[in-house]
Amino acid sequence: MTGTALLDIQDVGKRFQARGRDVLALDGISLRVARGDFLCVCGASGSGKSTLLSLVAGLDTPTAGRITVDGVPVTGPGPDRGLVPQADSLYPWRTVERNVAFGLELLPVGPAERARRVDWYLAETGLSELRNSLPRQLSGGQQQRVAIARALACEPEVLLLDEPFGALDVQTKEDMQVLIRQVWQDTGTTVLMVTHDVEEAVFLGQRVVVLESGPGRVAADIAVDLPAERDLAIKRTPGFLSLRARIEDLVRAQHHTAGQATG
Ligand code: ADP
Ligand code: MG
Repeated sequence: MTGTALLDIQDVGKRFQARGRDVLALDGISLRVARGDFLCVCGASGSGKSTLLSLVAGLDTPTAGRITVDGVPVTGPGPDRGLVPQADSLYPWRTVERNVAFGLELLPVGPAERARRVDWYLAETGLSELRNSLPRQLSGGQQQRVAIARALACEPEVLLLDEPFGALDVQTKEDMQVLIRQVWQDTGTTVLMVTHDVEEAVFLGQRVVVLESGPGRVAADIAVDLPAERDLAIKRTPGFLSLRARIEDLVRAQHHTAGQATG
């Protein structure tokens, strides 16, 4: 990529001090994401995926390097970045529509515009009928739709997804993959998603980055050379299957290497 990136992660490292032990979770991570791109970061459990997202979200600070969005250094959370956590992030006492409105209530957005956005993103995520339900009345997949709608309603520059479908059954997960791809095409939002699921990364991403573990480093950065229009049938095509196999091998090799390195 040449020129400016919307999201620029520059030589970022993150060291944790836990119970007198030093953990280097991320080391020398450099990633540039162009406006409108969909980047999936794939890595084994413990490779630093959630750490990376929390740094971009501004919930934690890097111990090395820096992160900018549209040229502005990230120093804390902000409405330009919307994070969808792995599970259970809804406010249990708020209805679906009041959960979706939550972030908007913190922004200088008037009541009419707030109502318009809530309606639009409820419809976009297929939740209009459930707007008056409480989270506990919803299935896991419906709850994640609400979390996605809530993040989108703030119209962030970058949507950050932390294994958002990891807790869902295969059928629901695939429905959600189709949904998120549709949302990406409809809104043009830039997406950074982390997942351990290579099939998911190849289906969703325009690019897939493989993280090696212990410490997390970029091991590979692969362009997904598949049509922009994708439905689930693409998962059975030779092009998809060979790319998936290639990336799965890379993930497996990284995991193996890390295991040897740490004994
Ligand atoms: P992933 O999301 O890929 O499973 P994480 O980012 O959660 O990986 O964790 C990466 C590494 O950093 C792990 O070794 C984990 O134990 C460590 N780690 C994450 N958060 C903390 C923390 N707050 N304190 C100490 N160590 C942490
Ligand atoms: Mg994680």
